[in-house]
Amino acid sequence: MAEKRDYYEVLGVEKGASADEIKKAYRKLAKMYHPDMHPGDTEAEEKFKEVNEAYEVLSDEDKREKYDKYGHAAFDPASGGGSGFGGFGGFDGSFDFGDIFSSIFGGGGGRGGRSRANMPEDGDDLLTRVTVTFEEAAKGCKKEVNYARVESCPDCSGSGAAPGTKPDTCPNCKGRGFVTVQQQTMFGYSQTQRACNNCRGTGKIVKNPCSNCNGKGRIKLKKKLEVNIPAGIDDGQRVILRGQGSAGRNGGDNGDLVIEISVQPHEIFERDGNNLYCEVTLSFTEAALGAEIEVPLLGGGTTKFKIPEGTQTGTHFTIKGEGVTDINSRRQTKGDLIFTVTVETPTRLTSEQKKLLEEFAELRGEETSGRKSFFKKLFGNKK
Ligand SMILES: [Zn+2]
Ligand SMILES: [Zn+2]
Repeated sequence: MAEKRDYYEVLGVEKGASADEIKKAYRKLAKMYHPDMHPGDTEAEEKFKEVNEAYEVLSDEDKREKYDKYGHAAFDPASGGGSGFGGFGGFDGSFDFGDIFSSIFGGGGGRGGRSRANMPEDGDDLLTRVTVTFEEAAKGCKKEVNYARVESCPDCSGSGAAPGTKPDTCPNCKGRGFVTVQQQTMFGYSQTQRACNNCRGTGKIVKNPCSNCNGKGRIKLKKKLEVNIPAGIDDGQRVILRGQGSAGRNGGDNGDLVIEISVQPHEIFERDGNNLYCEVTLSFTEAALGAEIEVPLLGGGTTKFKIPEGTQTGTHFTIKGEGVTDINSRRQTKGDLIFTVTVETPTRLTSEQKKLLEEFAELRGEETSGRKSFFKKLFGNKK
């Protein structure tokens, strides 16, 4: 199993976030990654689990405190940390989402369906993925994003009525969208409000539905956007475009467009945070005598670097400021480029080269110092 991400990072909130902020972030993400929205998408399913796991801990004061102190170890039964948490390691697969979700999706509650009437309702957040190259992620780029979002129907301006006609006010509820029901109980009369059945809570009756949206007033439309991907973004991070999700209803806010970034691997470089890593091969003589070599830079080109004499395979060298731009830094500070050298043993020597190396070995006095001491350890001085 991959290493667990920080729970705060998973929910995209600060360490000191309030319970309310955590809840809000959770609701958004849980809705976004909900399996119903991405049937068959195992990646979304994993995210969904991850988000739930994070929320399960951070929404509970006690668990959150333990987590802040001990990190993931607080809930790992194998580590023995965080006593009193027996049976709290069973997230994988056995976690029951039902309870939490009834409160988000309004399922299974006794609240009588969607009696939203003319209440403002925020539009859905939408998730899309964008793949960028390693260099694009490091330097930042612009990308075109194509996605579909629900918008107010342009043909009927969202009314649902065929162009040239208007929806009628529902006579049953007089346009209010709900009706008041009086009931006699054994304690006397009680009044309750219920969504109007006649207009299904909209307060309006459409006699000639708009053919473009089938009278719904809303329609899914393709949208194209150019998105700025900031320099230093890393695989799995998200760019959020506020208000570019689906349209809200009755004056509700538009949802957001959440773009999840996937970064392609690089041929030469690897990345860890803002640092770049690569390997550089040295010839046997360069390593032995020292040399000025060319080290590759991200985005093409090279820089000169002086290798000291007697450099061994596996030695790391650091070139300051040639890593990836720190996405959080206003001053665009950069990480470092760290390269590891591998010394190449010459092959396919000509007889003349062989002879020279043999002479060299003789001058050195047969074995290398390392091997000498190794044999010394093995056999003492008897050899
Ligand atoms: Zn329409
Ligand atoms: Zn009505």
